[in-house]
Amino acid sequence: MSRLLERPEAGRGAPGATDAYEMVIGLEVHVELSTRTKMFCSCPADFGDEPNTHVCPVCMALPGALPVPNRRAVEFAIRAARALHCEIARETKFDRKNYHYPDLPKGYQISQYDQPLARNGWLTVDVGEGPRRIRIRRLHMEEDAGKSLHGGENGAGGAGETKGETTLLDFNRAGVPLVEIVSEPDIRSPEEARAYLEMLRATVLYTGVSDVKMEEGSLRCDANISIRPRGSKELGVLVEVKNMNSFRAVQRALAYEAERQAEALARGERIERETRHWDENRGVTLPGRSKEEVNDYRYFPEPDLVPLMIDPAWVAEIERSLPELPEQRLARYQEAGLAYKEAWTLVTQRELGDFLDAAVAAGAPFRQAANWLLGEVSARLNETGEPLASLRLTPQGLAELIGLVEEGTVTATLAKQVFARMLETGDDPRQIVEREGLVQIRDESALEAVADKVIEANPKVVADILGGKEKAVAVLVGQVMRETRGKANAAKVNEVLRRRLERLREREE
Ligand code: ADP
Ligand code: MG
Ligand code: ZN
Repeated sequence: MSRLLERPEAGRGAPGATDAYEMVIGLEVHVELSTRTKMFCSCPADFGDEPNTHVCPVCMALPGALPVPNRRAVEFAIRAARALHCEIARETKFDRKNYHYPDLPKGYQISQYDQPLARNGWLTVDVGEGPRRIRIRRLHMEEDAGKSLHGGENGAGGAGETKGETTLLDFNRAGVPLVEIVSEPDIRSPEEARAYLEMLRATVLYTGVSDVKMEEGSLRCDANISIRPRGSKELGVLVEVKNMNSFRAVQRALAYEAERQAEALARGERIERETRHWDENRGVTLPGRSKEEVNDYRYFPEPDLVPLMIDPAWVAEIERSLPELPEQRLARYQEAGLAYKEAWTLVTQRELGDFLDAAVAAGAPFRQAANWLLGEVSARLNETGEPLASLRLTPQGLAELIGLVEEGTVTATLAKQVFARMLETGDDPRQIVEREGLVQIRDESALEAVADKVIEANPKVVADILGGKEKAVAVLVGQVMRETRGKANAAKVNEVLRRRLERLREREE
């Protein structure tokens, strides 16, 4: 929940008014499909090449050119739709959505209006209040627009829009297949919106039909938000928020927008139905040029394309080829003993989950492998910002390292040192342990010698212990661990120390 909605701050809006509202959020997500070619022509669908090199009469809308649907794109859309539990239409058709924009050479976008490919899906999320199902209203196919390149003398690569400089157009992206996934207004908080997006992203990623990278634009999200009095069943006036470049930005924009609306209502104003733009630097939403954004697309059936009849047998075949999906993996990890949040992290960061499964296949016990991935490995990744694949760590290596701990060759502390050396050298953990003498000290006489030294050096602590302050033993254990640079087994050290102390006590009596 947004702060303001939970506890109104004095001086901002009418006190007490704001926590009376509930947020209602629905998301519209665009995902670019990784087909080899575009939606309605055979131009390559990849980017990064010289501008306007992947264009043809069809995607440039030259007179007489006719679109032909890309079967692969339809297959990918069905794949994503089934993973999201959507029903696939028997008959689906394309429509023209008319609007003018420089990056849209046709003056319309081929999209789907009243007969979308798929409807009635859902995703389950849990932000700590138990699982909640967010319904998906529809998933439809459409084509992407081109890209405007602002600024810079040749237009390309410049940052931001500067007055007086050129804007050039690159149509390589025009006609690339997209699916738009529209949720019902079932989302109740910015956190839940983010969780929904994470689950949606993971689900599409697992199906393999898109790389769903928000920073590269292969996943984009527009957010609709309204607020209403708690307990009310009616929907409030929605505001559409655009221009968020990360999941965090979506969350922040929604929290801001909810507060803005609550304050406006508290002042007795009315919410206007409008499109607002998120300003990442200032952390605010700003009104768009609302007159220009009045949506009157004059949809009509695309006359150059016949409706598609989708064969249920084809759908069944596509469905059979789906891999284990995030919700299934989430359930499997929870059954294996992980808390929901732990499982969520490993599932939504797919490379972590893949690594975990591979480490387990290589013989690692599940819980320990998960602990390493959630602990040391994640810490390292967060530190460096690198992907897991670039770490010099293999599932086999991790399984072996865990094996060394399990068999007692290294302590938990030592294992962390070995881990660090594994990342530096890429060497096998056993090799590192042998080469660097990182083996656990298990020899009791060696431990006794260290224990005696520590006892001698800490007469005050020893006196405390003998005087009944049993807890102070921990101080001595710590000293022994330090002396042995973490190589001693803590349980063994405890045992040895107690034995020595017991003897001292007897001598005193
Ligand atoms: P369309 O764009 O087809 O006209 P809507 O504007 O009704 O459809 O819905 C677009 C998105 O806005 C959907 O994700 C929907 O869940 C969401 N939405 C619709 N009404 C509201 C509302 N009152 N408050 C918040 N979100 C809403
Ligand atoms: Mg809309
Ligand atoms: Zn083309």
